[in-house]
Amino acid sequence: MPLIVQKFGGTSVADSNKILAAARKAIRAKMEGNQVVVVVSAMGHTTDELIGLAKQITETPAAREMDMLLSTGEQVSISLMAMAIHSLGHEAISMTGAQMGIVTDSTHTKARIRSISTERLRRALESGKIVIAAGFQGIDDDFNITTLGRGGSDTTAVALAAALNADACEIYTDVDGVYTTDPRLVPEARKTNRISYDEMLELATAGAGVMHNRSIEFAKKFSTPVHVRSSFSDVPGTFIVAQPEAPNQPVCGAAVIKNEARVTLRGLPDRPGVAAQVFAQVAAAKVPMDMIVQNVGAGGKADISFTVPRDELPSVRKVVEQVSQQLGAESVSYDDDVSKVSVVGLGMATQPGVARTMFRALAEKGINIDMITTSEIKISVLVARDFAQEALRTVHEAFGLSIAPPNAAAPGEGAGAADRRNHTKELLARLERMEDLIIEDITLDESQARVTLVDVPDRPGLAAQCFDEIAEAGINVDMIVQSVGNEGQANISFTVPQADYQRAAVKAADLAKLLGSPAPASSPKVAKLSVFGIGMKSHTDVAARMFRALAEAGMNVEMISTSEVRINVVIAGAHGAKAVDVLRREFAEALV
Ligand code: ADP
Ligand code: ASP
Ligand code: MG
Repeated sequence: MPLIVQKFGGTSVADSNKILAAARKAIRAKMEGNQVVVVVSAMGHTTDELIGLAKQITETPAAREMDMLLSTGEQVSISLMAMAIHSLGHEAISMTGAQMGIVTDSTHTKARIRSISTERLRRALESGKIVIAAGFQGIDDDFNITTLGRGGSDTTAVALAAALNADACEIYTDVDGVYTTDPRLVPEARKTNRISYDEMLELATAGAGVMHNRSIEFAKKFSTPVHVRSSFSDVPGTFIVAQPEAPNQPVCGAAVIKNEARVTLRGLPDRPGVAAQVFAQVAAAKVPMDMIVQNVGAGGKADISFTVPRDELPSVRKVVEQVSQQLGAESVSYDDDVSKVSVVGLGMATQPGVARTMFRALAEKGINIDMITTSEIKISVLVARDFAQEALRTVHEAFGLSIAPPNAAAPGEGAGAADRRNHTKELLARLERMEDLIIEDITLDESQARVTLVDVPDRPGLAAQCFDEIAEAGINVDMIVQSVGNEGQANISFTVPQADYQRAAVKAADLAKLLGSPAPASSPKVAKLSVFGIGMKSHTDVAARMFRALAEAGMNVEMISTSEVRINVVIAGAHGAKAVDVLRREFAEALV
């Protein structure tokens, strides 16, 4: 019998009528001949209210007790949902995370799922009951209740769908699908018919709160098709599957994270191991670092910048102050008034000029870019928070996202659905430690050179001017990073094919002269290493481990870009092959 997992978010179970409406959807699926698991979130704003209650008692509640408290929200809604189904004349049983056998690690408030024992669920389903599962929660080896992080019910739903090898996983929410950006922020946003796992993963972490990013890691790992749709209508929503909506579309969506903070350490000794030490200590505090930029040292000194979620800044400050003293940094600065705007698309990997279009559009609106990082399928810029909304709109418009691409897929899952579901055996092998890091490959690209502009004036339009000139010379740029330099100045590094190095270097030198900046610090041959897999960023220590392993082998990281599916580092050209060995050894346990 086919099996369906349906998940209803907070707004979809906000009151008794909504719970009854959701119950009817579940019953309908059952009547259509499916086994049905319903995952529910806490009602309405319950989780926020519970957090508020805790804050009234103490500013620093123990994480274990927070989980004890927050998990009650979902326990209320599962029982009410089961009662609703009973009242409509059908059989249902509610289960907490522990009762379903969702075992997690012990990282309270952001626990990871280790395994799900499906036996009890199966028994209930086989006896004809609709199973109502509490989202967002699990239990550790010591029977402590844990939660998976805000928005984690999506992850429960997809994890259950994976563990049960479900035929469908439907995420019912208050929008009717995944839009090209948050429709509340940009009303012209377009609903997409389909989006690929990789794109959704990047968008989710870049701020598209419609799906919990870790749920997409599960979906990708277990090839689970996810259907995001409205709780309040029956129109088809968006399918999250392996294939994108339109092949070659450079950008499929844009997102913003309004509350970011930037940390910059200046004047660090420029030797292998320094960056590694900074990142290792931040990672040990389990704080997700985002845009990470290390400048190639000028005058024997190096600068490091990175961003963290704004509310993590107080704990990061402590760590950073300590490590900057240990290392003898000249200064540390923070900016907690910044936002990150990103564009994502599988097609940008093969199409030049996407970054340039984004920088030009922002320049035309006079919006200054504080930092830039790019990966194969994502470009992120950091801007002052006051400009965040306008920047999001601007890039959404610049890429014409409100208009459907001419070759867009029709609504639906696409071809190959049956095959995807036929891999139970393979799945079972992977169920142990479900949320572990997976490294698919480590590759080396020795075809590139690096150009670095140092201390150029930090003003709107600078990046646009730089990459316009490079593009006009017919040179394709691969990685780009821009970071804050000395007071009022910026550093921009980018990589180009070695064959174009001379011309790019001349262009950069001309530009530096024009701007009154020092001569560029470039390198005709660099090695770019890419480590790709699943969980590259949600496992907060992957970048730090790379830095450490390379540093211990005496190699300095010159550029880095991180994304959900891939971390790239650029190092000196001579070290490429050795670096691959080092990283293969470092990640041996995760390599598949
Ligand atoms: P639920 O409680 O059902 O889990 P969420 O509030 O977590 O719902 O997610 C739905 C919300 O996500 C929408 O109301 C919308 O404002 C927001 N959102 C952000 N980005 C997007 C996007 N790209 N597409 C659709 N919704 C988005
Ligand atoms: N109730 C939890 C939250 O508000 C989990 C969820 O809704 O997904 O974050
Ligand atoms: Mg949600």
